[in-house]
Amino acid sequence: MRILDGKATAAAIRAELKTKIDSLAAKAGRRPGLAVILVGDDGPSQTYVRNKERACIEVGMHSEVQRLPADTPQTELLARIEVLNARADIDGILLQLPLPAGLDSRLCLERIAPDKDVDGFHPMNMGKLMLGLPGLRPCTPAGVIELLRRYGLSTRGKKAVVIGRSNIVGKPLSVLLGLKGEYGDATVTLCHSATPDLAEVCRTADFLFVAAGKPEFLTGDMVKQGAVVVDVGISVTPKGLRGDCDFASVSAVASALTPVPGGVGPMTIAMLLSNSVQAYCSHLG
Ligand code: NAD
Repeated sequence: MRILDGKATAAAIRAELKTKIDSLAAKAGRRPGLAVILVGDDGPSQTYVRNKERACIEVGMHSEVQRLPADTPQTELLARIEVLNARADIDGILLQLPLPAGLDSRLCLERIAPDKDVDGFHPMNMGKLMLGLPGLRPCTPAGVIELLRRYGLSTRGKKAVVIGRSNIVGKPLSVLLGLKGEYGDATVTLCHSATPDLAEVCRTADFLFVAAGKPEFLTGDMVKQGAVVVDVGISVTPKGLRGDCDFASVSAVASALTPVPGGVGPMTIAMLLSNSVQAYCSHLG
């Protein structure tokens, strides 16, 4: 069984991005800039934002975090986004979710200029994804596809099953897998909480992607012998961080599996950096 090492792969991507940024910045006279807006004091969000900031600095990007109190009015948040939309030194804007109660995340995400939407959540970028047009792709699904690409695990002509239909993971991942290309061209089944006989559907998969947020719920008996399994889930449990897969039983049947932590998580941050560089290049013209 092969471990798909997202940590090492993400480190390699960061090193490539650093080289690219150094060379582009020498000509452009400025580095890519990412602004992160963090509203309130949600614990996990603070950690995610710190990790993103560290990664930006490592690759030589300008990073700035705007920390706002939980009672920030909607109008103020929208005004801050507008200011960042207009700044020439900012290429990417990331609004850390979830927002505190009372703030409308949909409204805020739609206010981010699509060319600075490095999370890929704007309806314009989601639409481009549906149409198979170039655009900024949501980081977690893009990270999953990039991990497969780096391990040469082509999905072409294969049966893919995605568990979870969220707008940030499952749904866009199912679309990416169905697009034309070596790391698309799959026959995709999208499963969710109303799917009957989930285990039976899972056992048909050559590639199984699990993003349900249910720790260790996918067991080896739900996996076809030799399948590639990508575990997107991250849950804090009394035993520590756990994915959606029961690692011991799944690794006994799968041909390849992502660990948690150290699988999809680091790839998500690497794709955020990659999207920021893509946005920067589009702004350099
Ligand atoms: P979500 O709660 O928005 O969506 C979960 C989806 O799973 C829903 O569509 C639901 O229908 C489906 N589901 C839940 N239980 C199910 C079951 N028993 N059978 C079939 N389907 C079921 O979650 P999300 O935001 O997509 O995140 C999913 C997981 O991925 C979470 O653990 C989250 O922490 C993790 N995540 C990881 C990263 C990363 O970078 N690695 C990024 C985003 C989310």
